[in-house]
Formats: sequence, structure tokens, C-alpha cells
Amino acid sequence: MPQNSQILIVDDNHSNVDVLKRSLETKGYGISIAPSGEVALKIAPKLKPDLILMDLMMPGMDGFETCKKIKELPEIQDVPIIFVTGKTETEDIVKAFRVGGVDYISKPFREEEIQARVAAQIRIRKLIGEKEKLIQELDLISRIDPLTRLSNRRDIQEVLGRELSRCQRYENEFSIIMGDIDFFKKVNDQYGHDMGDNVLKEVAGMLQNEVRKIDKVARWGGEEFLIVLPDTDLPGAYRVAEKIRAAVELRESRFDEAIVKLTMSFGVAGISEVGGKIEEMIKLADLRLYKAKDQGRNKVVSD
Ligand code: GH3
Ligand code: MG
Ligand code: MG
Repeated sequence: MPQNSQILIVDDNHSNVDVLKRSLETKGYGISIAPSGEVALKIAPKLKPDLILMDLMMPGMDGFETCKKIKELPEIQDVPIIFVTGKTETEDIVKAFRVGGVDYISKPFREEEIQARVAAQIRIRKLIGEKEKLIQELDLISRIDPLTRLSNRRDIQEVLGRELSRCQRYENEFSIIMGDIDFFKKVNDQYGHDMGDNVLKEVAGMLQNEVRKIDKVARWGGEEFLIVLPDTDLPGAYRVAEKIRAAVELRESRFDEAIVKLTMSFGVAGISEVGGKIEEMIKLADLRLYKAKDQGRNKVVSD
């Protein structure tokens, strides 16, 4: 288990280093050595060790100071630091924890104790790493629509928030397109729900093909899609929506059982129309989408 873990020993005393190194190498750890706090600060960000064993009393920067400095470096501030020292005053022990140490081993040390304390910290570190990875994965999953792999409503709402602050900062514009498949219920009724799902996937892919890389396509709900177009004014967004509308109309999607032809209706809105209010912008696009439906579908409305 600890085979590939890397440990940095920071100690100016050669015989201490030798004992620690030998004792930990027998447990399969990879060992690096820094003879001073200054050297440790230089090499640790590159090494990114899994654990640091830190002597307290060293000429120049002492262990406390070195530990404090390490905790200020984002790349390595989470690396656990165990202090190894002959100083056993309560005051020193308390300070070791206060500056960010996770454990404290007093000299003369027993090898088994060192090995056990190191193994415990490496284990904790690994668990924390796994937990962080899991949180990242869950966060990603929580933003993706499982059927189409597009951003879901939650993710696109965050994108809209970011886009709003960006456009306020740089005084530029952005627009949205709300699109809905016409008579989609008929596809389900005629070919079944699985086929309906396939059609949704296909439409999702198509929408993404029709926009720029910086535009973001999301599944807003059932057969409704929202597209965010950065640096795009209302007439620009209208043109994009019209291009998508024409592409959808022309497309014949072949599935095993059938050829499906679709149309979509769109409502477009620009941020400058709604005084920077995202909710209002979505409402406006929605309103225009329903206008497009009322006017016979297969249509883009932007006023
Ligand atoms: P309109 O032109 O007015 O938009 O008509 P429509 O039939 O598209 O709209 P309506 O809201 O009446 O029906 C939407 C249909 O979309 C009904 C629903 O079952 C279907 N739908 C929503 N989500 C999914 C999905 O994930 N998979 C499948 N297969 N169908 C879905
Ligand atoms: Mg529909
Ligand atoms: Mg709908």
C-alpha cells in the first residue's frame, strides 16, 4: 500500500537522516532529503511529497518557520508534516500543531513508532485525496444531462451567472436561444419512447455542431434546449437560431426502424433588453418561443 508514497525528510543531522531513511525505505517509501528549511522550501513544490518529516531545530530557518512557509504555498500546503525532535516541552508540542503539523515524534525515536505514525498519516492523506476526487466526479455528474451528455439546467444557470459578470466587467453583450422540438410527442407516440430518446440525442449533437466552441448548449428540460452565446447581440443570435432552424428542417435522421424529420421553434433574447436580469431574459426567450409556436412553429422569434 505505501509502496509508491514519497516522503521528504528535512533534517540537518546526517545520522538522524540515515536512520529515518533506512527505516522508511524498508517499508517501501521513496525518500528525498533536504538538509535545511531553505532547501525544503525550494524542492518540495517540485517533489510534491505525500508526507514531510521535519526536524525542529535546524540552523537558519527552524522547523516551525519552514512549516509555516510550506502552509503558504498552494501546491504543497496540504502535505501532512510530522515534526521529529528532541524538544519535548508542552509548549513546543502545542506550537507544532498550531503551525500546521499533524503529528509529533520525539527523539530518540523507535523505528516501529515512526513507521506506524507515518503509515497512519499516509493513509489519512490517501483517504482525503479519494474523497476530493469523488466530490469532483459527483460535481461533474451533477451538471450533465445523462441522456444527451449536454449541460443540464443547473450547470447552464451557473454559466449564465458567469456570463453576466463577464459581460458587466467588459461591457459587452450576450444572448440566449431557447429552442423546443415541434410536436415531439408524436415521435414518442409513433415510434416509442426509446426512439424518442435517440432523436433527443441526435438533436443535441446537431445543436452543438451548429454553434461555436465558446457557445454553450444545454438541455433545459424534456425536449427544450437553451443555448448561451457569449459576445453576441440579438440580431447575431437571431441569425444563429435561424441557421439551426434551417439545419434541423433539412435533416433526415435515419434510425433502424424509420426516417424521422423534425422542426424546431426558437425564442431569442439579449441581455441588453432586460437590464442584466437573467431570470427576465429566460422568461423573454420563453415568451418568444411560445409566440413562434403560436405563429405555426418551425420559426425563430426575437421580438
Ligand atoms: P410542441 O410543438 O407544442 O412543443 O409539441 P410537443 O409535442 O413537442 O410538446 P409537448 O409538451 O406536448 O410534449 C413534449 C413531449 O416530449 C412529451 C414528453 O413525453 C416528451 N419527452 C420529454 N422528455 C423526454 C425524454 O427524455 N425522452 C422522450 N422519449 N420523450 C420525452
Ligand atoms: Mg415541443
Ligand atoms: Mg416542451
